[in-house]
Amino acid sequence: MIVLTMTSMSSAGNAVVVGASIGGLLAARVLSDRYDSVVVLDRDELPEDAAARRGVPQGRQLHVLLSAGKDALDELFPGLSAELNARGAPLVDLHGDVHWYNDGQRMLRAPSPLIAVGMSRPLLEDVLRARVAALPGVQLRSPVEVLGLTATADRSRITGVRLLNSSTNSADTSDSAARAERVEEILTADLVVDASGRGSRTPIWLEELGYPRPAEEQVRVDVTYVTRVYRREPHHLEGLSGALTNAVPGLPRAGIVAAQEDGCYAVALSGMLGEEPPTDDEGMAAFADSLAAPQIGEVVRTAEAQGPPVKMRFPVSTRRRYERLSRFPAGYLVVADGLCSFNPIYGQGMTVAALEALLLRRLLGSNGSTGSNGSTGSNGSNGSDDLARRFFRGAAKVIDGPWSIAVGTDLRFAEVIGRRTPKVRFVNAYVHRLHVAAVADPVLGAAFLRVLNLVDPPTRLLAPPIVLRVLRGSLSRRPADTSPAPSRPARSP
Ligand SMILES: Cc1cc2nc3c(=O)[nH]c(=O)nc-3n(C[C@H](O)[C@H](O)[C@H](O)COP(=O)(O)OP(=O)(O)OC[C@H]3O[C@@H](n4cnc5c(N)ncnc54)[C@H](O)[C@@H]3O)c2cc1C
Repeated sequence: MIVLTMTSMSSAGNAVVVGASIGGLLAARVLSDRYDSVVVLDRDELPEDAAARRGVPQGRQLHVLLSAGKDALDELFPGLSAELNARGAPLVDLHGDVHWYNDGQRMLRAPSPLIAVGMSRPLLEDVLRARVAALPGVQLRSPVEVLGLTATADRSRITGVRLLNSSTNSADTSDSAARAERVEEILTADLVVDASGRGSRTPIWLEELGYPRPAEEQVRVDVTYVTRVYRREPHHLEGLSGALTNAVPGLPRAGIVAAQEDGCYAVALSGMLGEEPPTDDEGMAAFADSLAAPQIGEVVRTAEAQGPPVKMRFPVSTRRRYERLSRFPAGYLVVADGLCSFNPIYGQGMTVAALEALLLRRLLGSNGSTGSNGSTGSNGSNGSDDLARRFFRGAAKVIDGPWSIAVGTDLRFAEVIGRRTPKVRFVNAYVHRLHVAAVADPVLGAAFLRVLNLVDPPTRLLAPPIVLRVLRGSLSRRPADTSPAPSRPARSP
């Protein structure tokens, strides 16, 4: 194996981002404001168009971009949702244009400013990739696999990455070309950002450099997703753009129908805790029919499928507590799923990645020495050394709310292992009451959706006017309406 050292030609700072998925593209967008050059590396051959790829297997599954995520992306890339819309992705009023069933209770619809974009994950990635590639100083390089980090002799600072350049010369099939495919390279950088996703190897790389691994919090949820795309007809969903129902104790099944580009719906059926949606037509229809939202079964039974169903498992939510480490090398960050990978049922990952990107932008902007001013040479030690500490602390605050929503809700299921504090039990019982009252009170539906969409913090649901409405609304409903959950139907084949 040949080892080359590639030093950045840039006279000021350069940054390297590992992973060209959502987290990496958003980090690159922000870094391009401060660094002269930003190189984004991915081990996949990045597609030219909106296509699913191996390194992002979840890309074939339905992806919801929450309202806060849409707003953050529009802030980072002005006009992004309009561009997605121009490519056929509908803009959806999440309260007015979607059938919501929470704990079996049908939420009263009302027009709202909570707007989401309905698009496939490959379309979003394609549009973001094109936007990032067009930024001055940004280069996307693929396929290259990052193998590890390089550091200063005292290991206090990361100086770059070791990568395996697996680019091929398809015209040349000789032995020398085959050897050239496996050239190992060192790419130096003033800042390296790990955006390689939930499989991030940073804990191992840190250990190799003599640092402790971060503590990991894990919540086992054993989710199985099955997504299939169907042709959208005007009569489906009574003309609305989506339908959704959550998993509840006794029936750990969920379903979503979401309008997307090309006049289609994506339907995702999911099961938690080992419950698995089938992938045959009849089984999928039976599974969909067992859900509280009848509209989902209607689409699965009557709409024309546009391809086969795709199954994917997600075993465990994982949060890595880098903010608690007492030692961390300078010139290095971890973002997005590498920091926290959420139970996908709540659709939070991309939005949290976008909020972290906004945080990084704020931090880079607030400290002139953390950017491309040439003051942070590979052996330098100055204000930029603090970036990791400030970023991980801020990111922990960004993650706290969505993590508490996801884990707190998962803890409703007796099988999920975790600490059920009195607060968790109280909030779950209270939110169930809120769903009961939201059947008739659109103010409560709006309050819930704002929290679910990460627009408001979860504590907003405990504001006195909301509590009063919950009490009034849930007490005025018949006891039968407030039963906690439907019972589990016979397992579908
Ligand atoms: C089934 C499922 C459904 C989901 N649904 C939603 C949803 O509805 N809404 C939502 O917001 N989020 C959803 N998510 C989460 C969302 O996909 C992620 O949060 C989002 O992709 C951000 O992840 P990321 O960029 O950190 O990593 P990833 O998207 O996993 O990408 C990591 C990238 O790094 C590259 N890479 C990895 N290792 C290396 C290496 N050593 N060298 C070079 N490149 C490397 C990979 O090829 C890949 O491109 C879902 C996740 C799953 C599993």
